[in-house]
Amino acid sequence: MKECKKQQDSITNSIQLAEYFQIDQKSIDLVIQKYPMKIPHHYLSIIKKNGDSLWKQAVPDIRELEINQLKDDPLHEENQSPTPNLIHRYPDRAVFLVSDQCAMYCRYCMRKRKIGHDILFDNDFVEKGIAYIRNHKDIRDIILSGGDPLMLDDKKLDSILKRLKKIHHIEMIRIHTRIPCVLPQRITHDLAEILQKYHPIYLNTHFNHPDEITPESKKACSILADAGIPLGCQTVLLKGVNDSPQIMQKLMQKLVQIRVKPYYIHHPDPVRGTGHFRLPIQTGLKIMEYLQGNISGLCVPRYMIDLPKGGGKVPLQPDYIDQSKSPRLIVRNYKGELFEYPDG
Ligand SMILES: *Cc1c(COP(=O)(O)O)cnc(C)c1O
Ligand code: SF4
Repeated sequence: MKECKKQQDSITNSIQLAEYFQIDQKSIDLVIQKYPMKIPHHYLSIIKKNGDSLWKQAVPDIRELEINQLKDDPLHEENQSPTPNLIHRYPDRAVFLVSDQCAMYCRYCMRKRKIGHDILFDNDFVEKGIAYIRNHKDIRDIILSGGDPLMLDDKKLDSILKRLKKIHHIEMIRIHTRIPCVLPQRITHDLAEILQKYHPIYLNTHFNHPDEITPESKKACSILADAGIPLGCQTVLLKGVNDSPQIMQKLMQKLVQIRVKPYYIHHPDPVRGTGHFRLPIQTGLKIMEYLQGNISGLCVPRYMIDLPKGGGKVPLQPDYIDQSKSPRLIVRNYKGELFEYPDG
């Protein structure tokens, strides 16, 4: 692979991509008419070969165009938007979409319907969102999402955070971002200085594969952690990318090494254009069963499904209780051994 020169630029068409990899330009061109491509040079530089786990997350696949029963917005986010860029589904917290830009267009994205389509995120939208939050005293926790909130420039981000911080009932702000993984150079000391003015700030980042944890990402996370920002990770379970207990184990262990606490493993949402990443719930449960007990409890996230039609997230767990022995309480440990537990 060629040395990447310009860190800030990204690859957005098949001609550029063909300079680095052997590809089927025609099918990529077809897909990106509907679902655009964007791969930052950093991420491109860590793809080892065609078809590997990182490639699948970044490079368009003709299967994105398959016609099937999957919906553009299965979670009904748009129905739960009281103003265009705010999703208020739970009593005490809301998602505030503050940017329509992403450093990379992940092929499995749950907001694929919107990503890369330049929906207007003008100041008016942001103002409306802030006004809604100000008027809803039950909201304690604001989650900045998008797109990617860290695609905003420092000044804009500073101004949004400043206004949120002024609202008394907002007790904490969370930032959901894939930047530490896909464009780690964006995490600067200047940015950390801005963020730490608004503590408590929590940041959930997004890594899906151990090969994504590079020296650059490690540095980005240490800048944030040194600024006192607790770091979490939301991983998406993806067929052919990370659907094995050993890959997940390695990922979770590497995350805690860069001071990131695994938060959730998300089962992929049934979103149109992402069907080739889908897999059975049983695969996720098997992974959870393997993680629990075999690795440090700090490395074990929760496994979540997001219910359709805005039902919200639900954690799924392997069943450790042998129901067939009821009323005796027989519990299975992580090695599969059975124990009777004195109930009551
Ligand atoms: C995921 C999500 C949240 C945050 O959920 P937590 O379980 O608190 O991390 C909030 N609002 C919406 C709409 C969400 O989808
Ligand atoms: S960075 Fe996040 S919002 Fe953007 S394409 Fe990737 S998963 Fe979707």
